[in-house]
Amino acid sequence: MGRAFEYVIVGGGVAAGYAALEFARRGVSHAQLCIISEEPVAPYERPTLSKNFLLPESPARLPSFHTCVGANEELLTPQWYEEHGIELVLGTRVESADVGQKSLLTAAGETIQYEILIIATGAQAIKLEEFGVNESKAENVCYLRDLADANRLVDVMQSCTGGNAVVIGGGYLAMECAASLVTNKINVTMVFPEAHCMPRLFTPKIATYYEDYYESRGVKFIRGTILSSFEFDSNGKVTAVNLRDGSRIPADMVVVGIGIRPNTSLFKGQLAMEKGGIKVNGKFQTSNDSVYAVGDVAVFPVHLCGRIHRLEHVDSARKSAKHAVAAILEPDKTGEFEYLPLFYSKAFVFSWRFYGDNAGEAVHFGDYSGTTFGAYWINNGQLVGSFLEGGTEEEFEAIANATQLKPAVDDPTNAGMQGLNFALTISKKMRPQTPRMEAGTSSLVLETPVYAWHATAGVVLAASISAFAYWYGRRRRRW
Ligand code: FAD
Repeated sequence: MGRAFEYVIVGGGVAAGYAALEFARRGVSHAQLCIISEEPVAPYERPTLSKNFLLPESPARLPSFHTCVGANEELLTPQWYEEHGIELVLGTRVESADVGQKSLLTAAGETIQYEILIIATGAQAIKLEEFGVNESKAENVCYLRDLADANRLVDVMQSCTGGNAVVIGGGYLAMECAASLVTNKINVTMVFPEAHCMPRLFTPKIATYYEDYYESRGVKFIRGTILSSFEFDSNGKVTAVNLRDGSRIPADMVVVGIGIRPNTSLFKGQLAMEKGGIKVNGKFQTSNDSVYAVGDVAVFPVHLCGRIHRLEHVDSARKSAKHAVAAILEPDKTGEFEYLPLFYSKAFVFSWRFYGDNAGEAVHFGDYSGTTFGAYWINNGQLVGSFLEGGTEEEFEAIANATQLKPAVDDPTNAGMQGLNFALTISKKMRPQTPRMEAGTSSLVLETPVYAWHATAGVVLAASISAFAYWYGRRRRRW
């Protein structure tokens, strides 16, 4: 027994929600579209899980952060899907796919046929057990990818007030979780193999600025080493973390953020894969004409960087989904995806954005003892990336515009000395169409801490390589 739909989306996360809105806006009507999701809830803004969801007071809870509030668009509650005749098949894993037969088989045993399929299966957290660390499913070892993980993390945090948490990893999720743990009055030690946090984006100078602040909030950093084993009590709870350098840290809880792996296995051997994801063209079409892939699983051409990338950030998930739907419904009117990668964060009192590519030489600007500073990345004599902490809306827009224009930079030192004026002047002169900063403008996106954009050479190797590198303590130059 089964059903058939014109359009089916497998996966019910960020990209699925934004795709649904775009389908509805473009007039897809009742019973044409179906979303199948393993999660039991309608698509939501995943970044909220590591931010306002973890606040000790007035935490965000559904339905307030369903998509698409993160981009200041409609709140798509389950009722919205009902009213628009979009079939939500929730709590249902797709077990297998046959792109030749255009069919999916769900864990409930139902076969669902499609004319056009959009793959939006996102990614999963890489587990320590994959590297031989026995965590024995300890209840106080937490990961964070979905709502169930977030609920569990809240429960564990609430039982640890005043206690000690060890955060494994130094990337964006680890930084976000560390900030949330501090806010929940938990003592935090972060352990990572590199010399600084966020090594794939931050220069040592930028990282030091944030690390100093984290330290002032009580966070301890143990750098240059990795986890080797856990100690357990008789109930199977972790009581201490042993590190490769021989040290031992007592722990009431552990949070692990060592990378993600895209969920591509349903389509292995059926669709072209590259760089860990599903390869698509500039319209998000895979090697099979009837199948599109968007969000964290898609490896797509980023013309600005001159390479194909798999990005793991929310702005890309939202925009790739919208573009794919436009390409499906109006193929002749839809061009190639022209994307300026955007990665943004707010942590504690900080707010920064990064646009473009962090390739080449970084030149810093601004006041690193104050609250507004940044960096430009100059590659082959062109501006390719810009980072800004603490800017105004106009200043963020200026660095975005300037980065998109890729102006020639003959003298990087001079660009650094001009600081924000460099971007402001270019932006005023030339004014391109800038991708808007969507997520940070919504009060419901609720972001607090730090996350990472995997947009450079490092990104395409993202999940497994980053975990591998973490594990063996390799230091990567860029993220
Ligand atoms: P997802 O949102 O992960 O959705 C995938 C969905 O597919 C899930 O519901 C999953 O259950 C479902 N699924 C997978 N396999 C199957 C199957 N076989 N059958 C049925 N359903 C399936 N990015 C930023 O830019 N800024 C941030 O601040 C930020 N914060 C983040 C915080 C957290 C805690 C996390 C986890 C991610 C964060 N990200 C952030 C990354 C961002 O959320 C992702 O890039 C984005 O969610 C990707 O969207 P997606 O739709 O591709 O995948």
